[in-house]
Amino acid sequence: MPEVHFDYIIVGGGSAGCVLANRLSASGKHRVCLLEAGPSDRTPFITIPGAFAYFMFSRKYNWAFDSEPVADIREGQSIFCPQGKGLGGSSSINAMIYIRGHRLDYDHWASLGNHGWGWNDLLPYFKLNECNERGADELHGGSGPLFVSNCRNYYPINELFLKAAGETGFSLNDDFNGPQQEGVGLYQFTIRDGKRCSASRAYLRPAMSREILTVKCNALASRILFEGKKAVGIEYRQKGALKRIYADREVIVSAGAYNSPKLLMLSGIGGRASLEGAGITPFHELPGVGENLQEHVDSCVLQASRKSDGFSTSVGGLLKMWREPFRYLLGKKGKLESSITQAGAFLRTSEDLEAPDIQLHFLPLLYDDSGRNLKLMSQNGYSCHVCVLRPKSRGRMTLRSSDPAAPPRIDLNFFDHPDDGKTMANGIRIARRILAAPSFNDRRGAELSPGSELQSDEEILARCKKTLGLVYHPVGTCKMGSDDMAVVDESLKVHGLESLRVVDASIMPTLIGGNTNAPTMVIAEKAADLILQTEVWDGQLRATGGGGRICQHPDCGRLCGRNPHRCA
Ligand SMILES: Cc1cc2nc3c(=O)[nH]c(=O)nc-3n(C[C@H](O)[C@H](O)[C@H](O)COP(=O)(O)OP(=O)(O)OC[C@H]3O[C@@H](n4cnc5c(N)ncnc54)[C@H](O)[C@@H]3O)c2cc1C
Repeated sequence: MPEVHFDYIIVGGGSAGCVLANRLSASGKHRVCLLEAGPSDRTPFITIPGAFAYFMFSRKYNWAFDSEPVADIREGQSIFCPQGKGLGGSSSINAMIYIRGHRLDYDHWASLGNHGWGWNDLLPYFKLNECNERGADELHGGSGPLFVSNCRNYYPINELFLKAAGETGFSLNDDFNGPQQEGVGLYQFTIRDGKRCSASRAYLRPAMSREILTVKCNALASRILFEGKKAVGIEYRQKGALKRIYADREVIVSAGAYNSPKLLMLSGIGGRASLEGAGITPFHELPGVGENLQEHVDSCVLQASRKSDGFSTSVGGLLKMWREPFRYLLGKKGKLESSITQAGAFLRTSEDLEAPDIQLHFLPLLYDDSGRNLKLMSQNGYSCHVCVLRPKSRGRMTLRSSDPAAPPRIDLNFFDHPDDGKTMANGIRIARRILAAPSFNDRRGAELSPGSELQSDEEILARCKKTLGLVYHPVGTCKMGSDDMAVVDESLKVHGLESLRVVDASIMPTLIGGNTNAPTMVIAEKAADLILQTEVWDGQLRATGGGGRICQHPDCGRLCGRNPHRCA
């Protein structure tokens, strides 16, 4: 069989991989192959925003990992760690909330020595990525591939949440991605015309007709191939056969925060002890691979309701939903055109803080265990989820075995640092204060969790641990930087190896204060420029045929228009 060659091989067709597949193939000059372990995304379930819960039970579109059990967390049960599988990756199963994080998060990355990754460096990429239905302005993009729409609010209880927050003294914010993040408000969503706008829909589909782009689904990359220290290809499994393809320029790993370090380790890249522990001969020692795992730990106040105007899986609750599939099918309208998480907040647990340290997700239902606790959900109630935005604890991901099909071992290590527990307890108190405000008086039932009798930090935290969950934002396992534990440099090249980059959520050195889909796409937008600039940048705009690009002139760095000479 003749060898099959491409210029670039991208492993993983998720949020980052779809952006790369589009951008790297845009010039028409480079042969690009996108390998995706999961299936195509041609299913209505992915399209329908209200079908989010379906993916928590799916094994086709969700890797559905489980963390390692810890005695005092979820009573010794593992925490469910969903990750998208199939074109679009996690952006095909996520809750579609559009958040960028706080500007200080990126300035912090830059302060760690990652030049070009500060807020002002990345803002142009956020704008390039975004098509906000509110239009373009200084901070927002109005013509990018990722459509961002306002919340279509179908649960009046969300309004009560906003009113209650006002009564509690918190200010309202109608744009968490605007000049300031802090406040309480309705989220915006990556939804277009009532359909999920995944990375696949935004970036991959428009590029699919390009002849130089090859997309292979159900293709599980099992090993990176090397010649000396140079990555030259990928070995992958498809329909029971072991196959190889070759990259003449680069291999780019975009398999997500668990699967990217896993693929590196399967290829012998990682810490000696963890590789040998899994029966893998070390090829290139990089102790940081799989370390530095950060995730948004989530706990909540669950409140019973005396009214039934939220969502419940009781017979009555489901009967009330009978019209919704028809409304959606006929006009992409109704409750199914929205995400169920609509209202939220970014707040500070202490006035001394520079930026919000907790995020709230308010839900018009009793939501626990990633929506898999159907018994709880059959009661009327509402929940206010609290997430610690910048956890100080660090977990790790290691291999269970050398079998590429085996799930990774995930040690979340939540609350290893005492400050995280303190922030969580204070966050729960803030959520309680909002839910205790007069606006909720006519529906407030018992506090089902943590339980109003639990007041001290220790009591609250002990109870929170029993129902602990995630916001599904793992990052940091192939962190960018220059210290001993860094895996990639500021160009996202793997330290000490050639022609190999990691581009996805795993490269974030620290977790950002917000949801991670758009930030991951922006990492990929920037990576595409880093990859292509060596040949197509000339201190000017890049001519991709896709319109104006970010100007690389040292004094500009903005989206300055289509004229490549304007900034010269
Ligand atoms: C349930 C859920 C809800 C979320 N809600 C939100 C939200 O509302 N808003 C928000 O901003 N963020 C949300 N997130 C987070 C956000 O979606 C992710 O941070 C982001 O999509 C990560 O992008 P990625 O490219 O790093 O990885 P992914 O998008 O997960 O892509 C990785 C891809 O690589 C593929 N892959 C893995 N291993 C291999 C292999 N060996 N060979 C080939 N392919 C492979 C996977 O199948 C997957 O398609 C949510 C995530 C989840 C899981």
